[in-house]
Amino acid sequence: MMFQENILKKLISHCKKYGFVFPSSEIYDGLGAIYDYGQNGVGLKNNIKQYWWDSMTLLNENIVGIDSAIFMHPTIWKASGHVDAFSDYLIDNKDSKKRYRIDTLIENQITKYDNKISKEIKKATKYFGDAFDEIEFCKKDLYVLENINKKKALYARFTQALMENNLKELRQIIFDYKIVCPISKTNNWTCVRKFNLMFSTEMGSTTDSTIKIYLRPETAQGIFVNFLNVQKTGRMKIPFGIAQIGKAFRNEIIARQFVFRMREFEQMEMQFFVRPGEELEWFEKWKQVRIKWHKILELGDNKYRFRDHIKLAHYANAATDIEFEMPFGFKEIEGIHSRTNFDLNNHEKYSGKRMQFFDSKINKSYTPFVIETSIGLDRMFLSVLVGSYSEDVLREGNTRVVLKLPPALSPVKVGILPLIKKEEFKKKAREIMNKLKLNFCCQYDEKDSIGKRYRRQDAIGTPYCITIDQNTLDYHQVSIRFRDTMRQEHISISCLEQIISDNVSIKSLLKKLDE
Ligand code: ATP
Repeated sequence: MMFQENILKKLISHCKKYGFVFPSSEIYDGLGAIYDYGQNGVGLKNNIKQYWWDSMTLLNENIVGIDSAIFMHPTIWKASGHVDAFSDYLIDNKDSKKRYRIDTLIENQITKYDNKISKEIKKATKYFGDAFDEIEFCKKDLYVLENINKKKALYARFTQALMENNLKELRQIIFDYKIVCPISKTNNWTCVRKFNLMFSTEMGSTTDSTIKIYLRPETAQGIFVNFLNVQKTGRMKIPFGIAQIGKAFRNEIIARQFVFRMREFEQMEMQFFVRPGEELEWFEKWKQVRIKWHKILELGDNKYRFRDHIKLAHYANAATDIEFEMPFGFKEIEGIHSRTNFDLNNHEKYSGKRMQFFDSKINKSYTPFVIETSIGLDRMFLSVLVGSYSEDVLREGNTRVVLKLPPALSPVKVGILPLIKKEEFKKKAREIMNKLKLNFCCQYDEKDSIGKRYRRQDAIGTPYCITIDQNTLDYHQVSIRFRDTMRQEHISISCLEQIISDNVSIKSLLKKLDE
């Protein structure tokens, strides 16, 4: 764990040092859980966005995109349930003065039971070998059963308390399960409080006419309220989807873990409208499409897992998270939810406007059901960095820090390096750069030794470096260096464009996704 936390620390300082992420308003000592993306960060982020956007809107002829406003009519948040229910329950430890979300404390306790169960299963697998039947074992082993039951009982009590909005009971659970503060190790807890996560501001110029409006806590509602606009103007037929990328804001209480939990962040959401009754089939399909989208990046298949929701939100009839193995454990990066017709029905109720679709195939009007895929761009960004960061030990005991980014996502694709600062080399290098820059983000660098320049490019994840030397002038050849293997090859200038573009284009990812 210590090692893993160190990795996060290293990553945060790497991001700062190489222009990926800066603390926002840094010269004023920063602003809690708000971050700015630097020159390389924005490149990586834009590439992730493009991968997502193109995978939705190019590969699916029945998915289109929109860009709705951040400010929306306040009644939207009443209809969506956010005004009444978008809250966290908090508790403070009086000794450490640290604040916790109740659900996080409970989740940690449940993880303890899970760990005990998996440890027992592991032991038994080793003992019984090939003959081991995990399902039967879990049904019979007393220790496993005891922990499964404890887990279930805790979950049931917790969800009951949430449903009843029973703050006293939530606190009692913390005491009954002897949950202590991870820092002070005491159970000296305050009472539990409820806290709405939406930011609000005022719109209007005079005090009489101002109205309270919210900064959207999710982009999805902008899609729901435009559902009919898009359906009619785009002549869309069910099933169809609407995709959107945009900022969302949540006044997170416990904002830690770098860009994993921010107060201002970006979401990439797609709502897929289907015939009632067909939603679970589509839910399964989208689960598979989305996990494939992640795995194609080759950050390691074992770093992903699904975590199905046991307790569903009142509007959902199936939900799962795609989790990624962060340095602080497996954490949600994307949610896939079958949201039924809850949102459209509620907007119909609150706005008085019909939100139905006439399905000519079955000659019937209905409110479509919705499958949502919702991914946090910043969490995705973090997962890509975590999966790519590497400290390679080289010969002579040297190390190099390299971001083994999927080439299609790298912010800079090509480093262009004249071997020495000789006028002819520099001129030739510029000539090559002028050609390549029309297609790829290139970086020209003539300062310091070639080794140092390679390291600089490694640190930002540039997949190719091209060196211009006497060979280039005499034989129109450059040496191309591959980031991960550090192998170098002499190739003709005329082949450069092809070699690079085959590997760094978003298209290369889309092709695999479409197979
Ligand atoms: P969590 O339980 O971690 O708070 P959530 O279940 O509330 O997340 P959703 O409402 O399902 O998250 O939002 C969809 C996606 O938006 C999440 O999977 C995550 O990637 C992203 N997201 C949510 N909150 C934040 C945040 N504060 N900072 C960065 N990304 C976020």
